[in-house]
Amino acid sequence: MTNPSLLILPGDGIGPEVMTEVRKIIDWFGTKRGLAFDVSEDLVGGCAYDAHGTPLHDDTMARALEVDAVLLGAVGGPKYDDLDFSVKPERGLLRLRKEMDLFSNLRPAQCFDALADFSSLKKDVVAGLDIMIVRELTSGVYFGEPRGIFKEGNERVGINTQRYTESEIARVARSAFELAMRRGKKLCSMEKANVMESGILWREVVTEVGRDYPEVELSHMYADAGAMQLTRWPKQFDVIVTDNLFGDLLSDLAAMLTGSLGMLPSASLGAPGANGRPKALYEPVHGSAPDIAGQGKANPIACILSFAMALRYSFDQGDEAARVEAAVERVLADGLRTADLMGPEGGSPVSTTQMGDAIVAALDASL
Ligand code: NAD
Repeated sequence: MTNPSLLILPGDGIGPEVMTEVRKIIDWFGTKRGLAFDVSEDLVGGCAYDAHGTPLHDDTMARALEVDAVLLGAVGGPKYDDLDFSVKPERGLLRLRKEMDLFSNLRPAQCFDALADFSSLKKDVVAGLDIMIVRELTSGVYFGEPRGIFKEGNERVGINTQRYTESEIARVARSAFELAMRRGKKLCSMEKANVMESGILWREVVTEVGRDYPEVELSHMYADAGAMQLTRWPKQFDVIVTDNLFGDLLSDLAAMLTGSLGMLPSASLGAPGANGRPKALYEPVHGSAPDIAGQGKANPIACILSFAMALRYSFDQGDEAARVEAAVERVLADGLRTADLMGPEGGSPVSTTQMGDAIVAALDASL
C-alpha cells in the first residue's frame, strides 16, 4: 500500500520557520507511529515569484491536485507589495483555492485551558471551548454578479450581489453535517432569512440536506444574533455553518475568543477527488509576519494544529490528531510560551524551535 501523500508549501516570511517544526512532527509519526507520508515540498507566494516569475508554478498546481492534502505556511511580505496584482504572492494561494475548488472553510475555535486567561472574555466563558465554523468560501457576495462601481445620474453607486445556487448551499451544508457527525452532532446554520432571499433559500436547503442526517440536531439563527450568542455563551455551539460574508466575520470573531493568531489553524475542503478524499488545503490563519520573520519568534502551533486537522479530516487519524492537540495542551500547561503568548506581565519566551521540540517531546511522552 502506498503512503498518503502530502504537498508542503512553506511560502514566505515565518512560513518556512513554522513548517520546519511541522516537519519534525510529520517525521515523528513516520518513525514512532508507523504512519509515514509521501512528502513533497515546493514553492508558493513571493519565493515562487522570485524563482519562476509567478506565485504558483503550473507544475506545483498540478501536484496540488494530485496529492491527498496540501499544507501551506504563509505567503507575502513587503518585498512584494509593489508587484502587479496578477503576480502578487496572495494570487498563488487564491489560485490553489480556486482550482482545487475549496468551497468549505473550516475554522476551529478551541480554547486550551492554559490560555483561557488570554481571552478577552471571562475565563469560564471560554475555558474548554471547542467549536467549528464552516464558512462557504467560493460563492456569495464576494463573487456574485453584477458587481462594480457604476454611475447613476449624478453620483456613483457601488454594487455587490449576494448570490447562491441550491447546489452551492447543499454541498457546504453536507460538509458541515458530515463534520457534525464526527463531533457533537449539533449544527447551527446562520443567515439573515428575515431580510435576505438568499437567506431564505439557505435555510430551506440546509433543512432539506439535514433530512439525510437525522442524528444531527439542526438549529437556525440569524447571523447578527449568532454574533451576540458567540460572545455571550460560545459553548452552546458545536458546528456552525454559514455563508461567505457572515462566515468571514463570525470565524474571526470566534477564533479570537481563544487568544493569539499564532494558535489558529484552518482547513479548506473541496469535493472528493479520484482517491475518494476531499481535496484539502490546511494552513494557519496567520500571515507571513514579516515583523518577526527570521528571528525565531514565530509560534509554530497554528501550523502544527493545521497538520492535526489534516490527520483528522484527510487521513482518518482522529486519535492521532487528538494526540497532537494533547501534546500542545501539555506544553502550554507546562508554561511554555512563544513571545505572542506572553501576557503583559512578561516572562521569558521560548523560540520557534524550542516550542516545536517541546511538542515532539510531549508526543514521545504520550506513548
Ligand atoms: P500577519 O498574520 O502576518 O501578522 C499579524 C501580527 O500577528 C504580526 O504582529 C505578527 O508578528 C503576528 N503573528 C502572526 N503570526 C504569528 C505567529 N505564528 N507567531 C507569532 N506572532 C504571529 O498579518 P499581516 O501583518 O497583516 O500580514 C503580513 C503579510 O502576510 C502580508 O504580506 C499579508 O498579505 C500576508 N498574509 C498572508 C496570509 C496567508 O498566507 N494566508 C494571511 C494573512 C496575511
